[in-house]
Amino acid sequence: MNYLYDLWDDFLSLLFPRLCYGCGNHLQRNENLICTECFVLIPRTNYHLQKENPLSRIFWGRCLVESAAAFSFYNKGSRIRNLIHNLKYRGIEEIGYELGRIYGLVLKQSGFTGSIDLIIPVPLHPSKKRVRGFNQSEAISAGLGAATGLPVSTSSVQRVLASSTQTKRSRYDRWINVEGIFRVTDPDSVKGRHVLLVDDVITTGSTMESCINELLGTEGVKVSVVAIAFAPA
Ligand SMILES: [Zn+2]
Repeated sequence: MNYLYDLWDDFLSLLFPRLCYGCGNHLQRNENLICTECFVLIPRTNYHLQKENPLSRIFWGRCLVESAAAFSFYNKGSRIRNLIHNLKYRGIEEIGYELGRIYGLVLKQSGFTGSIDLIIPVPLHPSKKRVRGFNQSEAISAGLGAATGLPVSTSSVQRVLASSTQTKRSRYDRWINVEGIFRVTDPDSVKGRHVLLVDDVITTGSTMESCINELLGTEGVKVSVVAIAFAPA
């Protein structure tokens, strides 16, 4: 029966090929969304192993961050860029969960998440979430939560203002542009806790900074941050 099933499976994959969202190659039967080659070749930052690293440094003098890490680098034409593009712009939400799960296992094993109490995805403005259908950071957080066993809260912080596009602004303009766009809507859920704030890609860190500062306004909160990719500006 297994043989027949495999044959049927092969037949189906001829008609409807399952392709890797990172490189476009055919997926093997035991692969899901991301092929083994991508899994192996995606360059890791390993920032979770260095307390001081290029990502943690971008927050220096801006806001207090306990630890900062990213899974990979967001380079042009890279596999991780393709994966995130498929996640955000082609609506393949499961990619977020899978990347979060893969990174969560790495973070847990290294002890990075040992002192974390709660995972919080950076919220999207409700209107943007409505257009996309989901928040990619929530999908990533769900995978991180599954791998680490940590709870995920999507109701602690809300985005109250939509920021306009960041690309062509100066650092100062960007900072003004994102100031006060988040609000802690459930302070009791974060009070005295170490929060892991999650985003898909960190570039200048200005959106993250705004969210961190809002969280730090609640008594006893500590914040660490992770992203799937880091794109140094
Ligand atoms: Zn691939």
